[in-house]
Amino acid sequence: MSDTARATEPRVLIRPDKDTFLAEENPFEAMMERFDHAAKLLNLDPGLYKVLRNPEKQIIVSVPVVRDSGEVEVYTGYRVLYNTSRGPAKGGIRFDLNVTLEEVKALAAWMTWKCALVNIPFGGSKGGVVCDPTAMSMGELERLTRRYTSGIIETLGPDSDVPAPDVNTNERVMAWIMDTYSMHKRHTVTAVVTGKPVEMGGSLGRREATGRGCTFVTREALARLGMALKGARIAVQGFGNVGSITADLLAKEGAVIVAVADKSGGLHNPQGLDVPDLLRWVRERRQLAGYPKADPITGEELLTTDCDVLVPAATENVITRKNAPNIRAKIICEGANGPTTAAADKVLEEKGIFVIPDILANAGGVTVSYFEWVQDRGGYFWDEETVNRRLESIMVKSFHDVVALADKHKVNTRIAAYMLAVGRVAAMHRLRGMYA
Ligand code: NAD
Repeated sequence: MSDTARATEPRVLIRPDKDTFLAEENPFEAMMERFDHAAKLLNLDPGLYKVLRNPEKQIIVSVPVVRDSGEVEVYTGYRVLYNTSRGPAKGGIRFDLNVTLEEVKALAAWMTWKCALVNIPFGGSKGGVVCDPTAMSMGELERLTRRYTSGIIETLGPDSDVPAPDVNTNERVMAWIMDTYSMHKRHTVTAVVTGKPVEMGGSLGRREATGRGCTFVTREALARLGMALKGARIAVQGFGNVGSITADLLAKEGAVIVAVADKSGGLHNPQGLDVPDLLRWVRERRQLAGYPKADPITGEELLTTDCDVLVPAATENVITRKNAPNIRAKIICEGANGPTTAAADKVLEEKGIFVIPDILANAGGVTVSYFEWVQDRGGYFWDEETVNRRLESIMVKSFHDVVALADKHKVNTRIAAYMLAVGRVAAMHRLRGMYA
């Protein structure tokens, strides 16, 4: 089958345990299960409960692209605005064959809770195009990005909806979105996207922000358990933006990175991997596989490897009720969005594993995206030290807010994080009232 054909084929999931997938791995249902729990503890009134259970807007667009061969291919793109009560919608765009509307809805909801949790004035959105960017040339990717942007252009804008990079999108893609939007508006609008190249209004520190945020909250969690970051043994799944930077920054703080994995496979060395050397390897070969100075392991083995901190930083639903009983880490820092299913949460809680939930752990990215948006709108740019210091202050405060709420209500950290976030969104709705 050609890559082009594969990119537009309906997604067929072949799983041995289909019922488990349906019940446990629907990301929107997984999000809703946690939301429901938090809503109950918050005593949300039934009307507000209904409002917050539904996305505000869901857009589906067909994205025609002329391939280099001259053939026309049509891709499906989504943009979901989940809730904008606290400010403009904020959320990344991913290019991936696994993108579905359910996934985009879940990711948009998570963005809503995440922005509220770190108390920045944004709502939540997310977008995606069902495609395989690894099978596309730069020209094809540019045409796809620009046509998708024009398809959703009415929703975009610094005051309405501000995209950022996510899986398989990067600064280059953000630059194309910014240019396309600006050409339509007839003037340059840098604040329409974040995660742009620094030369065109991006923020210093944005590229590293999610990994840096993970590092801060991991340090705080270790301290809470009476452990030092220096010498802590860390396993990281995913070696892209979030995973590789988290591994690099934690190693620089003296942690020992015992295992890493990407789509191509995993590597293990209980004495510690040489992260700068791995980064060089991946820069040249675009994958971890074949790296000679470590033992190969599978992604599944990585999750259950002996370590102090497990950082799932790849994709959703990797920690399930099947593998959760075998996880040996004391702390899980969720760099990825939705890496743990709701069923697995219960197992982790019973095992006493301290979970830094995704909407807290990976909020560093959107926090510095907020800084970027502020800098673009003010036309005044901060130095990197200022960005990192302000990021640290927000991440550390949010961590302690969540832990304090968990202690107060005797709930796990994920439910506490949802309670804090949903409570803030609900408070805004109550103050604004219902427009009728
Ligand atoms: P990326 O595309 O840069 O990297 C993804 C990495 O995960 C790659 O190394 C890929 O090979 C690996 N991977 C994919 N499937 C895997 C599997 N089954 N097993 C092992 N590795 C696998 O993406 P990213 O920006 O690093 O995002 C990773 C996660 O973090 C996503 O869930 C994303 O939504 C979330 N996130 C990203 C940001 C950000 O600023 N980039 C912010 C918040 C959350």
